[in-house]
Amino acid sequence: MMNGNVEPLRKAVSCPNCSSDSARSHYPFCSKRCREMDLHRWFSGSYVLASQEPEFSEDE
Ligand SMILES: [Zn+2]
Repeated sequence: MMNGNVEPLRKAVSCPNCSSDSARSHYPFCSKRCREMDLHRWFSGSYVLASQEPEFSEDE
């Protein structure tokens, strides 16, 4: 509501992480969780995660 930079709907894209429908606010991912998980994947080569992340459930 307060976001003045809302983008128009794009064509439907599946979340690269779990293949669910993507959300505009987390494009092209379906959720913040999937976006972060993807980032973690990228960073895993350079950073050691200090916190334990729950295993990805494909039943989401
Ligand atoms: Zn997802």
